[in-house]
Amino acid sequence: MNKVFSKTDPKEISDYIASEVRGYLECMGDTDGVLIDNPALIVDYLTLVVYYLVKIRPRSDHTIDSMCKLMGASYFEEGRRTPFWAIISEISATYKNDPVFADGANLEEEITNEDIDQCFEFIEYEIIFVDDDKQQDSHLGMISVCKVKYNRSARPPKLSKERLNIGKGRDNVYRQQFKRFLEIMTPESIKMYLDRYVVGQDETKKILSTAVYNHYLRLAYPEAKIIKTNILMVGPTGSGKTEMIRRISNLVSVPVVVTDFSGIVATPWKGRNKEEALTTLYERAGRNLEMAQSGIVFCDEFDKIVPAKRYSRGGDINDELQGQLLGMLEGTELDVPAGGSSIIRMDTSNILFVCAGAFEGLDKIVEKDIGKSGIGFGSEVKKPEGFQLTRDNLDQKHLIKYGMKPELAGRLHTVGVLNKLTREQLKCILTEADDNVIKRYENEFREEEDVKLTFTDEALDVIIEKVLNMDIGARGLNSVIHDILKVPLFEVPSDRNIREVTVTGAAARGEGKPEYSY
Ligand code: ADP
Repeated sequence: MNKVFSKTDPKEISDYIASEVRGYLECMGDTDGVLIDNPALIVDYLTLVVYYLVKIRPRSDHTIDSMCKLMGASYFEEGRRTPFWAIISEISATYKNDPVFADGANLEEEITNEDIDQCFEFIEYEIIFVDDDKQQDSHLGMISVCKVKYNRSARPPKLSKERLNIGKGRDNVYRQQFKRFLEIMTPESIKMYLDRYVVGQDETKKILSTAVYNHYLRLAYPEAKIIKTNILMVGPTGSGKTEMIRRISNLVSVPVVVTDFSGIVATPWKGRNKEEALTTLYERAGRNLEMAQSGIVFCDEFDKIVPAKRYSRGGDINDELQGQLLGMLEGTELDVPAGGSSIIRMDTSNILFVCAGAFEGLDKIVEKDIGKSGIGFGSEVKKPEGFQLTRDNLDQKHLIKYGMKPELAGRLHTVGVLNKLTREQLKCILTEADDNVIKRYENEFREEEDVKLTFTDEALDVIIEKVLNMDIGARGLNSVIHDILKVPLFEVPSDRNIREVTVTGAAARGEGKPEYSY
C-alpha cells in the first residue's frame, strides 16, 4: 500500500517508519515479509533516505554515489551492506533518468545477486515535500522500502504450551530480546543469511544455524531445560569455519568472541588459560555479566589442545587441560580476570561453545579404521577409494584416537565436517558471495578513487589456480589479490586521470601490472 510522507522533520519520519517496522516485527500472523537485521538501524537508515529525498535533495547536487558515501560511513559496516545497497540500488533504478542521480547510478551489479530477489521485496512509498515557507507541497517521486522476506514457518517456537508458560510473567529485558529474535528467525532463515556470504559447507551451516537458534531458545525459555548443544567443526584451513561465526556475530545480539586455543595451558599454569576467552566475552558484552553468560565462544585451533598422541609430551598436563575444558563446555562457575586485580565469577552453563580445527591426520585415522573393518563380509579388506572425511564416517572413537579424552569428545554433541573448497566454489566466492574480496576492492577503488576496477575471466582463472596451489583454501584469495593489486593501490591515488583499472590474465600471472585507461 502506498503511503504519502508529508513530514519534513526527521523525528516524525523516524517515528512513522519505526512504527511501521515494529508492526512487522510484532505481527504474529501470516505476513510474508519482515524486516530483519537490526530494526533500529533500518529505521535510522530509512529515515535518512526519506529525509534526504525530502529535505536535502532538492537543493543539493548529490549523486547516488555521494549519497551512498554520506550514509555509507555508518551503515555499510560489518557485512550489513546488501540490504542497504539493495535499497539504494532500487532508488537508483527508480531515478535512472533523473539528472541528479544519473551520473552515479551505475549500481546494477550490486543487485544482480539472485539472493536479493529471493530475500527482499520492495514496497513503494510516495514522497511529498511540504515546504512550510512557500506553503506548498511538491511531489518528489517514489521511494522503495526494502523488506526482507524470510520463511518463518517454525514460528513461534515449537515448544509445548506448558513449557512456554513456565516462565511467564518473569521476563526480564534480556529474555524479551531473546524471544524477539525467535519471533523473526528460524534455523532456516539463519542459514539463508549465512548462504549469502559462505559458499558451500551446507551441512555445517545447517548445524550452526540450528545451534544458534537452540541457544536463543535456551536463553529465552530457561525453564524449558533445552539441552545445550556444543559444536565441533572439523575442516581444512580456509574452508569457512571462522567466516561462519564472524557472520553469525553480525546477526545475533549476544556477544561473540573468537579465541585461538593453540598454546592454551591448564589453569593455573603460567601462560594463556581458557579464562582468557571468558574475559574477552565479558569485555565484548560491555562488562555486562548476564549478556556475557549468554554469549558464544568460538574456540579456534581446538585441535591443538588435543595433540595427536605422537606429539604429546606431558600427557598429564594435557589431560588436566582437557578435563578443565570439559567442565567449561558443560557448564561450571569459573573465576575470570576482569581487568586490574578484579575477578568475576562467571557461569558457563548458558554459553554456546563452537570448537573448530583442521584436525590434520584425522582423516587418515578414519580411513584406516574403515579400511580395517571392511565392508560386507569382512574377509576382504578394501581401502576406500578417494577417501573423504564426512560427518557420517567420523565417529567419537576417532576423535578419542586422535587424542581427545572420551569425556570431552562426548561433550561436543554435534560435529560438522567442512570440505576442502573446490575450484568452482572458489570462483563462486570471488564472483558471487556477498561482500567478497573482489567486491571490497571494487568498492574501495570506486569510493576512494572514483575508478572502476575489473578483472577479466582469464585473470579470475589465474587467481584461482594460484590459490589452489597454495592449499590454504579461500584464505589465499586475499593475499593473492592484494599482491596483484599492490601496484595500482600505490599508483592510482596519485594519478587523477585514471578512470579504469583492468586486471588481465598476464597481470594476474605477475607478468606486468594491471592496465590503466584514462
Ligand atoms: P578457517 O576455515 O581456517 O577458519 P576462514 O573462515 O577464516 O578459514 O576463511 C579465510 C577467508 O577465506 C575468509 O576471509 C573468508 O572470506 C574466505 N572463505 C573461506 N571459506 C569460505 C567460504 N566457504 N565461503 C566464502 N568465503 C570463504
